[in-house]
Amino acid sequence: MQFSTLAVWGGQDPDPQTGAVISPIYPTSTYARADLDEHRTFEYSRTGNPNRAALEKCLAMLEHGSQAFLFASGVAATHAALSLLKPGDHIISPDDIYGGTFRLLDQVLATAGIGISYVDASDLQEVAAAFRPTTRMVWLETPTNPLLKIFDIAALAELSHRKGALLAVDNTFATPYFQNPLDLGADIVVHSTTKYINGHSDVIGGCVIIAKEEHAGAMRFQQNALGAVPSPFDVWLTQRGLKTLPLRMQQHEKNAVAVADFLNSHPRCESVFFPGLKTHKNHEVACRQMSGFGGMVSFRIAGGREEVNQFVRKLSLFSLADSLGGVESLVNYSTLMTHGSFPQALKDKIGITSNLVRLSVGIEDIEDLLYDLRQALA
Ligand SMILES: *Cc1c(COP(=O)(O)O)cnc(C)c1O
Repeated sequence: MQFSTLAVWGGQDPDPQTGAVISPIYPTSTYARADLDEHRTFEYSRTGNPNRAALEKCLAMLEHGSQAFLFASGVAATHAALSLLKPGDHIISPDDIYGGTFRLLDQVLATAGIGISYVDASDLQEVAAAFRPTTRMVWLETPTNPLLKIFDIAALAELSHRKGALLAVDNTFATPYFQNPLDLGADIVVHSTTKYINGHSDVIGGCVIIAKEEHAGAMRFQQNALGAVPSPFDVWLTQRGLKTLPLRMQQHEKNAVAVADFLNSHPRCESVFFPGLKTHKNHEVACRQMSGFGGMVSFRIAGGREEVNQFVRKLSLFSLADSLGGVESLVNYSTLMTHGSFPQALKDKIGITSNLVRLSVGIEDIEDLLYDLRQALA
């Protein structure tokens, strides 16, 4: 079956008891058994419940994985994937990663005795040189936040495997609609389902999808033993959002292309970051490994903090907020907001400057979005 069909139907048989086409929400903590000998599929809702099982099945299909595991947030999902590392192990990661992932590596894993090397993952030789005998995982996020860098998943998967390490990819920005890292050789995919997968800015959630069964036990243990699992209601909402992912992504991308073109020719924009632009540094890799460029566009406005502040005050459709991937357009000031916790030296190195603006382009009418941007830049 094709993607759009799976997004609507994958893992979602009509309710066996009533025939309800949309599965009911199961707000129960526990499940009754007839006697000591009866074992049910679901026994206690932290361990598993019908809503979670249905969405996990659907996401595993969409990412071409063997199994999926839902968590209470993208950060909890990231932590679960990183739990495959034990004290003494080593991980390689770009320094250009989601702020919460950086915090996990820097303040949780590092204190748990795990070695970390930060690299520029667009330089394969630099990545190769960072391997140690204890390297067990390479972490990747592509496209990156907020500069939309693209890393070569297939090349990094090949390198990781040759060195005996796993490759994990945070696929939040591209979504499985535009990019399937497991098909390119990655072993693990992580999503913040808070973003495009749910798509309506009303749930926090995360997911791990694994290529091989051998990691299923560890992920199930994380769900059950650490307990950072989503509620049946949150899962149900996410499943409803996921059904329209293909339609939303098409519209996000169409609008983002138009916004990137508009900004690219605007005299007040110094530079525009969008993987769909031919001038983008990694455009060729993006064309190879993605079937679309997504809905995120970043740019540098002529000036600094004051000019950005004037711009966001004038905007009426784009709301100034953290997060991304919802149907509504948002504007973000990375240096203060999503990347506020980054040390200044790291911000300087990555290029998170005081005039950098990130847009999550929504699915509104493009004429209204361009009108808003034009008047705010005037
Ligand atoms: C938001 C985000 C996360 C963290 O997800 P939460 O649901 O906020 O915990 C991880 N990675 C990326 C790329 C994100 O954008």
